[in-house]
Amino acid sequence: MSDIIQLLPDHVANQIAAGEVVQRPASVVKELLENAIDANATEIKLIIKDAGKTLVQVIDNGKGMSVTDARLSFERHATSKIKSAEDLFLLNTKGFRGEALASIAAIAHVELKTKQEEDDLGTAIEIEGSVVKSQEVTVTPTGTSVSVKHLFFNIPARRNFLKSDSVELRHITDEFHRVALAHPNIAFSFYHNGSDIFNVPQENYRQRVVHIFGTRTNEKLVPVEEETEVLKISGFVGKPEFSKKTKSEQFFFVNQRFIKSPYLNHAINSAYDGLLKDSYHPIYFLNLTVDPKSIDINIHPTKTEIKFDDEHTLYAILRSAVKHSLGQFNIAPILDFDDQANHFNTPYDYKDKPVETPAIEVDRTFNPFAQEKIPVSPFSGKSVVTTKHSQTGFKSSGSGNSWESLYVGLESKSNNSDSEFSQMTFESEAKDSSIFDEAAIETRKSTFQLQQKYVVSTLKSGMLIIDQNRAHQRILYENFLRHITIKEATSQQLLFPLELHFTPNEIGIIEGLQSELEHTGFVFSEMQDKTITITGVPVGVPESEVSMILEQLISDVENDVPDTNFSTTDLLAKSMAKSLAIKNGQSLNSAEQEHMVNSLFACKEPNVSPANRPTFITMAVDEIEKKFM
Ligand code: ADP
Ligand code: MG
Repeated sequence: MSDIIQLLPDHVANQIAAGEVVQRPASVVKELLENAIDANATEIKLIIKDAGKTLVQVIDNGKGMSVTDARLSFERHATSKIKSAEDLFLLNTKGFRGEALASIAAIAHVELKTKQEEDDLGTAIEIEGSVVKSQEVTVTPTGTSVSVKHLFFNIPARRNFLKSDSVELRHITDEFHRVALAHPNIAFSFYHNGSDIFNVPQENYRQRVVHIFGTRTNEKLVPVEEETEVLKISGFVGKPEFSKKTKSEQFFFVNQRFIKSPYLNHAINSAYDGLLKDSYHPIYFLNLTVDPKSIDINIHPTKTEIKFDDEHTLYAILRSAVKHSLGQFNIAPILDFDDQANHFNTPYDYKDKPVETPAIEVDRTFNPFAQEKIPVSPFSGKSVVTTKHSQTGFKSSGSGNSWESLYVGLESKSNNSDSEFSQMTFESEAKDSSIFDEAAIETRKSTFQLQQKYVVSTLKSGMLIIDQNRAHQRILYENFLRHITIKEATSQQLLFPLELHFTPNEIGIIEGLQSELEHTGFVFSEMQDKTITITGVPVGVPESEVSMILEQLISDVENDVPDTNFSTTDLLAKSMAKSLAIKNGQSLNSAEQEHMVNSLFACKEPNVSPANRPTFITMAVDEIEKKFM
């Protein structure tokens, strides 16, 4: 047989390599910004069009390139930053692989203009899909400008894979924030489709953080400074009460490089021990400086992960530095006599807990021997809609609300053989001709709450145990879905407009969901740069919960973006249901318990929560009997 192996032509190899370096416009932004920083620029301008799909341009006032270097910069493995493998351990530049420009030029139209200080004239080069189209002498300021147009023009599959402009813009803004935060000593500006998104001068770190995340951020920050032989830490952590549902304001930089480290993140979280509410994350902007020899940044192609020589020591130092800062901050308010309302002295976990005598809970309405008959229609719903949660989600009228609906649900489920619940009921003694006989109705009275977590109800054939949180999520979820799709939710007008502050990215997410949110009953009067003004909320949603609901929503969207075909409606309904559902630990009176049971079984899919977890379990009498044997 003849030989079949051949070397790939350069432009094909470059295209393949490009796939690793360039996933989306944001990757181009990152590489170009990093090159500008490596060239010692003090001013960097980022210009994009159509979320980078049409144009990404970075202009810097750095050291520029000579004619030869300009041409060489597009060759693969062409770099001025390392000469030998040993240099990898002394690295203080962002780039070093010499791959970025070659990769980008393989999959886009690139125009480079560059000039060095000492030269009068500069160089202009145009490359399309690795092919040099022109190279000439040009008049241009000192520094470099790289324009990348029509990204993925020769890889349609990649191009089609790109997300909506708002999603791609969000990725770009994320990269931009990371770079801008790591380099407060550089002035940055950022333009999208001709409008000015961001413009910051050279400034100190606190100013930079505040510029990016809004003036409100200033009061949230506690400085952290620590210097040891192996490590220097500087930056800020957030006061515990400003922790967020999202991790969007957690930034770690190691030698001015943004990194993700679950391990070090854990160190910070543990410093907040007892100070955070459940599922809230601290905010932090921390810069670690270590000897470049002690890290290996080469383990991840997009370089957001690094390996440290001595992680355990870093962990300990970081944790204690953050704890120390938080501790100082905790003490400070005691000396501040004006601030009567401070609550920093008690860890959050304990602050809101009333002092209570331990007691055995007795549900006085529960009588296992009850014999009396229940009046024909005792469940008008009126008695229960007065509670906050009933208003937000429980159906308060209609036949679906009656106890019978429990059985209606059962009947429709009876062909579903893996529904434990249906099996059970229909397994029950055949002599009961009707499941609506008096004996069955009697069971209505018998609900009680177990550990403020489960609603237990007796059934003819056994026992039903409902997870109150999951069940309520299911009820609210179907309710919200209905409202969003039929667009008829009612909203309650707020007395005073509610102003909430978010980062521009977060505002972008909410904007993307604006019409769905309005269908649930939200009314937005303004969405600006960093502020959202709300004048109406869905009926029954307490004003105090609004900020939490939106934060949860943002966090859910952020975590969901990688999934290609998520439905925003579904996501919104799930997210709001999660935020508003009755939590474990909340006690419910017997009317509320009954209402929950009724509403759950009036749902289309009562068996599972929106996250597909079981909402209830049943225990048949014979199972119970077995336990007594
Ligand atoms: P790397 O950054 O890994 O070296 P790149 O492909 O990003 O690889 O860049 C190749 C080379 O081109 C760099 O090493 C640098 O010498 C030069 N270069 C790229 N961008 C600039 C710039 N904005 N200013 C000056 N030189 C640059
Ligand atoms: Mg580079």
